[in-house]
Amino acid sequence: MPRLLLPIAPWPFAELGILHHAQLGENRCLSITLSTMSAILALVPIRAGVLPSGGAEVVAEAQGRALLVGEGATEAAEALAGIATHLRAWETPGFAPGEWANRLAPVLRDEAVVLLPASPDGRDLAPRIAAVLERPLLAGAMEIRPGSVSTIRYGGRVLSEHLVNGSVVVTLQPGVRGVEHAHGSAAALEFITPPLAEAAVRDATLEELLPPDVSTMDLSEAPRILGGGAGLDSVERFEQLAQVAALLQASAGATRVITDRGWIAHTRQIGTTGVVVDPRLYIAFGISGAVQHTAGLGQPDHIISINMDEHCPMMDLADLALVADANETLQVLQQRLLALEDSQRTAQV
Ligand SMILES: Cc1cc2nc3c(=O)[nH]c(=O)nc-3n(C[C@H](O)[C@H](O)[C@H](O)COP(=O)(O)OP(=O)(O)OC[C@H]3O[C@@H](n4cnc5c(N)ncnc54)[C@H](O)[C@@H]3O)c2cc1C
Repeated sequence: MPRLLLPIAPWPFAELGILHHAQLGENRCLSITLSTMSAILALVPIRAGVLPSGGAEVVAEAQGRALLVGEGATEAAEALAGIATHLRAWETPGFAPGEWANRLAPVLRDEAVVLLPASPDGRDLAPRIAAVLERPLLAGAMEIRPGSVSTIRYGGRVLSEHLVNGSVVVTLQPGVRGVEHAHGSAAALEFITPPLAEAAVRDATLEELLPPDVSTMDLSEAPRILGGGAGLDSVERFEQLAQVAALLQASAGATRVITDRGWIAHTRQIGTTGVVVDPRLYIAFGISGAVQHTAGLGQPDHIISINMDEHCPMMDLADLALVADANETLQVLQQRLLALEDSQRTAQV
C-alpha cells in the first residue's frame, strides 16, 4: 500500500485526513493502548435484527465487547454468537443519529475507543458521537494497532497512519479485518435505556426507505459480486457482466487490468489499490487471482471461479472452479436467466 508522508497537522485537520503520524487527543485525555482489551467498545447500529456490513468485525476487534442500538437486538445477538462476549443493547425504533448520540454520551464517555463499522449507518452515527464526546474521529480505519490507527484517504489511494494518545471514535472499513466464525451460543444481553438528553436534537425525518440499487451500490457493501478480469474479451462483455449481475441482484466489479483499460470505472476495482469488499458470494470471470486482487476480497462465504487455467490461484481459492471459457459461460448464463425471467412473467399473467 502506498504511504504518503504529509506534514504533521493539528486537530481538527485530523478529521480531514491530511495528517501523518500526528498526535491525536488532548493531554487531559487518558493515555490509552489500543490493544488493551477493555479499551475498545464496539457500537453497532442495527435495523430489524440485522447487523450492518462490518458489524461482526468491529465486535471481534473489540474482543467481544459491544453495544447494539436499534431494533431487533435479540436476533442481532444471535448473529454474533461465538464473537460477542459482553453484550448490551438499547432497543429503540428507527434511526436517529443525533438523538442517539446525545443519549448515548453518558454511556460512552468512559470508553477510550468507540469503534463503529464504516457502514452507512455507522458513518452517519460516528461523527455525531465524536462531536458529543468532544474527541477526534478516525474514519475509515484499515487497521488498529497498539497506539496507532491507519486509515484510507483519497478514495483508497493514501494510507495515513495516526498515532493515538487519547480517546477517539473510529470507524472500521467493512471487510478489512474478517471474522473467524466461532461456534458458540449467543452472549447474554443486558438491555439498557440511556437517560433522556437535556437538549432536544432534530434528526432528519425519514420519508421512505428505498432498497439500494445493487448495480450502483458501493461495492464494499454489496452482498453478491460478479468480478471480471482479463479473461473477458471486450468492453461490451463488461456491459453484459453488469446486466447479468443485475439479473442476479448482484454488483459488478473488476481487476485492475480492466479498470486501467477504462472498460469499467475505477470505483469498481477490487483489491489493494481499489475497494476492499466483503460479499457473501463472489463469482470471478477470467480472473487469475493475483494477491493484489484477492487481498481486497474479504472472506466471501462462497467463491465461484470460471477460468481456462485450472491451476491459477483464483481456481485454488474457489469453492466451485469451472474450467471453461468465461465469455461463453457469461453468455449462456445471461440467456438462461432471461429465459427464467420470461417464464416467471408468463406464469404470473
Ligand atoms: C502495486 C500494485 C497494485 C495492484 N492493485 C491491484 C488491485 O487493487 N486490484 C487488482 O485486481 N489488481 C491489482 N494489481 C494488478 C495485479 O497484480 C494483477 O495484475 C491483476 O489483478 C490481474 O488481473 P486479471 O486477473 O484480470 O488478469 P490476468 O492476471 O492477466 O489473468 C487473466 C486470467 O484470465 C484467464 N483467461 C484468459 N482467457 C480466458 C477465457 N477465455 N476464459 C476464462 N479465463 C480466461 C487466464 O487464465 C488468467 O487466469 C496491482 C498491481 C500492483 C503492482
